[in-house]
Amino acid sequence: GVDPLNLVAIEVEAGKGARIIACAPGLPDAYFEHDGQLTKREIRAVTLSSLAPRRGEVLWDIGAGSGSVGIEWMLADPSLRAIAIEERPERAARVRRNAAALGVPGLQVVEGAAPEALAGLPAPDAIFIGGGAGDGGVLEMALIALPCGGRLVVNAVTLETEALLIAEHAVRGGSLVRLAISRAEPVGGLTGWRAAMPVMQWSWVK
Ligand code: SAH
Repeated sequence: GVDPLNLVAIEVEAGKGARIIACAPGLPDAYFEHDGQLTKREIRAVTLSSLAPRRGEVLWDIGAGSGSVGIEWMLADPSLRAIAIEERPERAARVRRNAAALGVPGLQVVEGAAPEALAGLPAPDAIFIGGGAGDGGVLEMALIALPCGGRLVVNAVTLETEALLIAEHAVRGGSLVRLAISRAEPVGGLTGWRAAMPVMQWSWVK
């Protein structure tokens, strides 16, 4: 005799720690294994919105870090593909682990530095640059690789990359947005706003 109540108990036990992943982007930061290099939740949600995935499209996630942007791109729809390009081997390995843990093991990971590592990749419909935008040739190659109607989204946290984006925006147009997020955190016995580094985002449609 099988005790149905016991079966339920076993299922609940097996489900301990199981995550039900929401279908809107901007998953909690804690879902991703990272070393600090992670596009934070609110910024990530806006970034996915700017990348505007459409059925069947391919994303290049250049400077993938923990892989969160490429992973959320793939989670948006099963028809979507993403290629994560990351130069640091330990981070590339982390991208693979995060993709597997979050249910998108099909995320392609290219371990190497852009722009060289971009050669020969499947053509993108959208490109995100979260690292390496200031490296020689990366932005140029991204601009060339995009098809007409393709989206380019670049996030900058340094003044140097911001300067680059301001210059590109002045020449090519698109939209430049500054995202400044603060989260309420304990300050002494009370609560205060802890500001994250502001992110400048340039979005452009070819
Ligand atoms: N969007 C990522 C965080 C990016 S951090 C996330 O949410 O996890 C920026 C990353 O870009 C770093 O991991 C750094 O190693 C990588 N990077 C910087 N320049 C690069 C280049 N030229 N080619 C490939 N990766 C690069």
